[in-house]
Amino acid sequence: MSAPNGPCPCGSGRKYKKCCRVFHYGRLPDHPEQLMRSRYAAYAVGAVDYILSTTHPTSPHFRSDTETWRAEVRRFCQQVTFLSLRVEHAEAAGDSGLVRFFATLKQGERDASFGEESAFVRRDGQWLYVAGKPHPS
Ligand SMILES: [Zn+2]
Repeated sequence: MSAPNGPCPCGSGRKYKKCCRVFHYGRLPDHPEQLMRSRYAAYAVGAVDYILSTTHPTSPHFRSDTETWRAEVRRFCQQVTFLSLRVEHAEAAGDSGLVRFFATLKQGERDASFGEESAFVRRDGQWLYVAGKPHPS
């Protein structure tokens, strides 16, 4: 867990309470990069409902069985250590956006780091995660 005054897990260099926490507490991101960063931070702090509520219904990660989905995300948050995030590229055009990033993670002793290009869409003024494809970097 990150303390409100501790550094934000997204690596912005700002305090968690001045960074992604505001989104976890209801402010809507203006840009897909903010959503991507705040989702990473949500995994890191175990803000499970934020992950669910920012996943687009057409996403392959979306589950209609919310209870099972929530338990899965919670387990993932507990098993993985979120070491750092590097955003390599972010763009938004109208209601769609792309963010390319590299996340450094550890699952137990195993390196679980990965690069991804994530697609986002804005629906009713809210940016949502749709899907990601691997992007080695
Ligand atoms: Zn942050």
